[in-house]
Amino acid sequence: MRDIIHRIGGVTLKLIDQLKSKYSEISYLHSAAALMAWDMRTCIPLKGAEMRAEALGYISTLAFRKSVSEEVGALLGQLNENKVQEELTEDEKAMVRVASKSYKRAKAIPPELHQKYSVLTSNSEKVWEKARKENDFNSLEPYLEEIVELSREMARLYGFEDNPYDALLEGFEEGMTARKLRKIIEPLKSDLIPFIKKIVEEGELADASLLEGRFNRRAQEKLSRKVLKLIGYDFDAGRLDETVHPFTIGIGVNDVRVTTKYTSCEFTPSLFGSIHEGGHAIYEQGLPISLKETPLYGACSLGIHESQSRMMENMVGRSREFLSFFYPQIQKAYPSNFKNVPLDEFYRSVNNVKPSLIRIEADEVTYNLHIMIRFELEEALIKGDLRVSDLPKAWNAKMKEYLGIVPDTDSDGVLQDIHWPSGMIGYFPSYMLGNLYAAQMYSKARQEIPGLDKRIEMGDVLSLVDWLRKNIHSMGRRYEPEKLLKAATGKELDPSYFLKYVKEKYSNIYQI
Ligand code: ZN
Repeated sequence: MRDIIHRIGGVTLKLIDQLKSKYSEISYLHSAAALMAWDMRTCIPLKGAEMRAEALGYISTLAFRKSVSEEVGALLGQLNENKVQEELTEDEKAMVRVASKSYKRAKAIPPELHQKYSVLTSNSEKVWEKARKENDFNSLEPYLEEIVELSREMARLYGFEDNPYDALLEGFEEGMTARKLRKIIEPLKSDLIPFIKKIVEEGELADASLLEGRFNRRAQEKLSRKVLKLIGYDFDAGRLDETVHPFTIGIGVNDVRVTTKYTSCEFTPSLFGSIHEGGHAIYEQGLPISLKETPLYGACSLGIHESQSRMMENMVGRSREFLSFFYPQIQKAYPSNFKNVPLDEFYRSVNNVKPSLIRIEADEVTYNLHIMIRFELEEALIKGDLRVSDLPKAWNAKMKEYLGIVPDTDSDGVLQDIHWPSGMIGYFPSYMLGNLYAAQMYSKARQEIPGLDKRIEMGDVLSLVDWLRKNIHSMGRRYEPEKLLKAATGKELDPSYFLKYVKEKYSNIYQI
């Protein structure tokens, strides 16, 4: 008996080591691709971009092929056998679970369909750019129609229980379904819409023009660096650069880079943009190094990723506590702009709530409504309840219903986001989930860290970061988002944390 166990143990060890070795290779290719992508979006010479795009495509395809090779398939098949599973540690079981799931998903789509979709969406992105500039939805319409059609086909191939949209959502937020989303959205909607109405009707908007002026680029960069250090970003394991569309990218272990955008007439986009990207980056810097080059070394989900950035940007960065510590440094950086502006006025001006047309410019109270609109429309498209040609009309009707405003043009409406033209249907909910996860985690952190508000007022954000490291970052991909949230907060996802957070903060600001 001992002999058999020993033998099985030996075989198991070999199998899991083989899988790890495959994933090492894959992670080196991903690292190369990430570095190429970072370079392409920050400093590549104009003429070099075309060749780079081809090379990047090649390396990414190579990584993808390795992850769906017959060898990996056979390995996973053996690793999923009961007697082998019994020999694995909990982490190893999780590795097999994560790798098997992504293998199965990747294999569900035939390479020809994959290729067709990727050509279609890359063309559609180009058409979208022009369509948005020229307010011409009609030119994009046939592309969106095909994207919806192929997405439905892919949903069918992935498989689903009662809603094809779930199969697409799964690619961005594991375990989430349209039904679960709806359960969260309904109470949010019924509370947020009247709350926003009340702010608009009874609240007094702060003077946001005090945030405009001339802002030296070097001073902006200095502030960004300061704030990144405050939130625990490790500059020895990353760097800050300038770009047009800010992003964070993990090149590999101990190399997670952030970017930001400086504009001369406002400094808040670079400041809050840096905090946002910094929130993403400290997540990746805090991933468990012991699991490097395995399927578990990565963020849990897009929604959990976004929770880290939104928490830092809004719950910390735009809080009265943090600003009472940091605002003097802003005043020092821009004395002629803010010398005579009291903290309270500044605090109010960076927390203005106003229904607006553009999602990425929306404040934290109205933001989720922008997401609900997109979720409801994309789900209807995939279920076949809405035709692409009716999309602009449906968009405007929902804007009117939820935010009380209607765009004059499709450019400021249905054409504003790149997600649908890029073929990313099912992506939007992760933005909203990020806000909800963040509020729930923050509430738990406040319970567990004595005097957290006071600490932040003294410039100590690291106590919070330690809590996040322990409960979120160091978990990598061991758990699905639902389980991770439950383990960290003791509760299922509950939108009332977010509602409580915004209502307290903004009732106070607007005295309503
Ligand atoms: Zn983000």
